[in-house]
Amino acid sequence: WAHSSLSVVVLGASGDLAKKKIFPALFALYYEGLLPPNVQFFGYARTKMTDVAFREMIAGTLTCRVNSRERCLEAQETFLQRCFYQAGSYDQQQGFISLNTRMSGQEASMPRANRIFFLSIPPNVFLDATGNAADCASSRTGWTRVIVEKPFGRDSDSSKELAEGLGRHLSEEQIYRIDHYLGKELIENLTVLRFSNSVFEPLWSRQHIRNVQVIFSENFGTEGRGGYFDRYGIIRDVIQNHLLQILALFAMEQPVSLDAEDIRSEKVKVLRSMKVVSAEDVVVGQYRAKGNLPAYLDDSTVPVGSLTETFAAVAMFIDNARWDGVPFLLKAGKALHKRYAEIRVQFRHVPGNLYRSKQGSNLDAHTNELVIRIQPKEAIYLKINNKVPGLGLRLDTSRLDLQYQSAFASNDLPDAYERLLLDVVNGDKRLFIRADELEAAWNLYTPLLHALEKNKVAPELYPYGSRGPVGAHYLAAKYGVRWGDLNEDDDE
Ligand code: NAP
Repeated sequence: WAHSSLSVVVLGASGDLAKKKIFPALFALYYEGLLPPNVQFFGYARTKMTDVAFREMIAGTLTCRVNSRERCLEAQETFLQRCFYQAGSYDQQQGFISLNTRMSGQEASMPRANRIFFLSIPPNVFLDATGNAADCASSRTGWTRVIVEKPFGRDSDSSKELAEGLGRHLSEEQIYRIDHYLGKELIENLTVLRFSNSVFEPLWSRQHIRNVQVIFSENFGTEGRGGYFDRYGIIRDVIQNHLLQILALFAMEQPVSLDAEDIRSEKVKVLRSMKVVSAEDVVVGQYRAKGNLPAYLDDSTVPVGSLTETFAAVAMFIDNARWDGVPFLLKAGKALHKRYAEIRVQFRHVPGNLYRSKQGSNLDAHTNELVIRIQPKEAIYLKINNKVPGLGLRLDTSRLDLQYQSAFASNDLPDAYERLLLDVVNGDKRLFIRADELEAAWNLYTPLLHALEKNKVAPELYPYGSRGPVGAHYLAAKYGVRWGDLNEDDDE
């Protein structure tokens, strides 16, 4: 970096994501000294704003993990001095030409200028913005990388169209498709857990695992921001990308190395081994009002009578030797009883169990279960059967418990966007989605999404704040599964 500068441009800088996630993450990397010394940040959007107004806007969301308030404020001040704003439209070159001039001014003293563009804009302007950025504002002396946020299309065809459109301006090497779930601490740890502990990998197959559940639950609805969501629904918003990515990492074979291409090739392989999701293996729901909590349809930004699903549960299967017949149940919903995301691995019953009579009749309650809680209160715990201490012989379930908050001195984990932005700076693509991965993921869900739309499938209603529609339990029961998150002792 001694002879290079770095400019990070956030397109759509007036928006929520930029304010709440991207600039705070850039600031965190900046004060931790992880960015090159010659770094500057540019916001770009249609909203007219001065540099000063822009700095004021983002200043409110910058926070530090360091203890010293003084050091934090000092870092904020120097960070803000490196932030600039350029107003302009996405579909015309003029704004990008001005942006380029301003960036070049800041970069002037360095022989190499590297640039990152973060597309934090709605998908309808992705291609215009990329084309203009590439034509008018890409670096002439260093690399230019472009970060794209979901949605990457609505189905296989639109995703392909977007990929081709981006491909007209950028090489695959320049494109970083972000799935912020892959930047979460526990997701990065998933492969560490599997491949660096001899106690897990030998059990990681149909021989020992009965089912796997990946659960994403939000305890709030769209609350006036349903416009974007309504065009996508929870399957496109969460399941087809975040949960499927987690599943691919969970189920893939061991990669040849930790190299990005080796890992992504294994993910593509396992995605291509999955069965296309069938309509019989899906339950869709939509939240209704409960007391003074509103229904999805009460959101004024949601079209009247919308059939968009705010909840879905899906059973998926992987047709390979390791996973043949094992149900992978994915579940995601809004306006449920709790906010959390986790992976649950339920192991098989103990064959010829000596202690069966000491465990009561509910065998499921005593199945070993590995829980990886992604958020909040990150944790990994294994439920085991244990003798209740004292006289007599009674068995009960206990936990081998790794709670991040108490186990690690620094429990303030970096936000996913920090990790991912740093990876873009370093050119590390392990945690970004490759074009063929995206294609494989869409191929699994496109027929289902089209069928739901074509048949106007009415979602099953569930009350705001509940555990979701009853249909999800029937779907699990069809495969002999009980959702693990229903156990009361797992609430913490
Ligand atoms: P946003 O606030 O709706 O949009 C970002 C900016 O884009 C706005 O400030 C606006 O800036 C511009 N914009 C909005 N609608 C536009 C339109 N129809 N045509 C042209 N420009 C428009 O969105 P966000 O929450 O910041 O998220 C940014 C993008 O990331 C979203 O579009 C979505 O695709 C994706 N995303 C967001 C999240 C999230 O957590 N928020 C999660 C995943 C993906 P100007 O009017 O000033 O140009």
